[in-house]
Amino acid sequence: MNKIDTISDMVVQSKKVVVFTGAGISTESGIPDFRSPGGIWDKYDPDEFGYQKFLSSEASREKYWEFSRVFWPTIVEAKPNAGHYAIAELYKMGKLDCVITQNIDGLHQEAGVPEERVIELHGTARWVNCLQCGERYPRQEIQDRVESGEKVPGCDTCRGILKPATISFGQPMPQRETREAEVRSAACDLFLVAGSSLVVYPAAQMPLIARGSGAKLVIINLTATPHDQYADVVIYDKTGPALSRIVEQVKARLEG
Ligand SMILES: [Zn+2]
Repeated sequence: MNKIDTISDMVVQSKKVVVFTGAGISTESGIPDFRSPGGIWDKYDPDEFGYQKFLSSEASREKYWEFSRVFWPTIVEAKPNAGHYAIAELYKMGKLDCVITQNIDGLHQEAGVPEERVIELHGTARWVNCLQCGERYPRQEIQDRVESGEKVPGCDTCRGILKPATISFGQPMPQRETREAEVRSAACDLFLVAGSSLVVYPAAQMPLIARGSGAKLVIINLTATPHDQYADVVIYDKTGPALSRIVEQVKARLEG
């Protein structure tokens, strides 16, 4: 039996699938991987955009918003790919418990996974928060202000500091999301990694929590990960083609 068949059988037999996604699935939609060679952090210094600096320095915030004029359009133009749609299909089949993602682009929701089934460990680029009063703004609204000449946009209500709802370097992980991801990882019967190298913690802990609680573990990634040794099946491939084939097989089995 080939690996796709094996994974398809696992999906058919499982009741609660947790899909864990990382940069690999987003790069297939044309969003650059921040950490890869030639990626964004080769052109911009990540230390410039650390959380403490953003909070303490107006100049740093100005640099951030300047950078966002390059970064934001790539997010807006990105469309979900075959991998995102395959995961949304799992939801429609009643197999998906949730998606836990390290990505900030909102493409899982755009592909049709309901908001409440997507746990965004590193936040989302689609919203901007006021750090003082908590007011939330759609990102596009703030980017429009930046495009029209505001160098450092502030909160309309309280003039507080506005920050995209992503988790920056040096910013604590969101507690609610991290806790929920742990609970759901422990409760699933199949944990499927798609497009993550599993090196960023605590995100990379989730497959181990799932494995430790008795779930089957599948890893689909272009390159090897530190957790491959714990997986039942590992596929070195792009997520789009692999997930599409798996979901096709699952459909055929469920209908047959
Ligand atoms: Zn405010």
